[in-house]
Amino acid sequence: MTEAELYPWLVRGLVGIGVVTFLVLLFVSAPYGRHERPGWGPTISNRVGWLFMEGVSPAVFAAVYAQGSHAGEAAPLVFLGMWQLHYLYRAFVFPFRVRSPARPMPALVALLGMAFNALNAYLNARWVSELGSYAADWLTQPLFLTGAAVFVTGWAVNHHADHVLLHLRKPGETGYKIPRGGLYRWVTCPNYLGELVEWCGFALAAASPAGAAFAWYTAANLVPRALTHHRWYREKFADYPPERKAILPGLL
Ligand code: NDP
Repeated sequence: MTEAELYPWLVRGLVGIGVVTFLVLLFVSAPYGRHERPGWGPTISNRVGWLFMEGVSPAVFAAVYAQGSHAGEAAPLVFLGMWQLHYLYRAFVFPFRVRSPARPMPALVALLGMAFNALNAYLNARWVSELGSYAADWLTQPLFLTGAAVFVTGWAVNHHADHVLLHLRKPGETGYKIPRGGLYRWVTCPNYLGELVEWCGFALAAASPAGAAFAWYTAANLVPRALTHHRWYREKFADYPPERKAILPGLL
């Protein structure tokens, strides 16, 4: 089987992983952060887990991207930049900003995250630098411009929401508080909403099947987690704002 024949099956596989993830997470909360609990095997520290899990993504993307015959073209270079803008932060800055770096994370979560990120980065990098094809004027087309605007909006929402969360604790604190301000007025997890919007924007801008599969996976992973976080806040805080939804303002 050639790579061109295998590739669409791997993209379908990513969609399938999303379906399984969604169904499992409706019943079992992913055991990290506030939902970490015994029974998931050996643990590593939160910080190390994030570094390894997310560090795979920019590394694999860059290595696969560099092999592509379109690697020097303008549109693929912009997609490389978008990917790395997100993942260099998530892998190498975010883990050093968390205020609970020693909280245990099951090694299994980090390993599954690494495997997923390696596959996802390969599929997306391979599309933009080799299998996809972008006309010289792609970057001025409405599809790209709309997707890029959606991506930047999602990125800004994700960053602002993470920033609010990471400043809720004073140094040394490990407990939880009610986040407020920005999109927290309307939803419990604007960080997840921003992430989802970001990858929808990337998929649109690159008109990429792998990008669409990743956007679907992000929804499948983060919507159930947002619902779980939302229930958790309501149970923990009697004064939790009643009008707040989990992830989609006014809807869900
Ligand atoms: P969480 O919202 O669970 O936690 C983010 C950080 O903020 C953690 O350090 C957490 O501490 C802290 N925190 C959260 N809520 C509070 C609170 N109420 N009071 C004090 N501190 C708080 O996010 P995740 O860890 O699940 O995700 C982190 C980022 O990674 C997000 O931006 C998310 O979008 C992205 N991500 C993307 C995925 C994808 O599929 N594309 C998958 C998973 C994450 P603690 O760890 O102690 O709970």
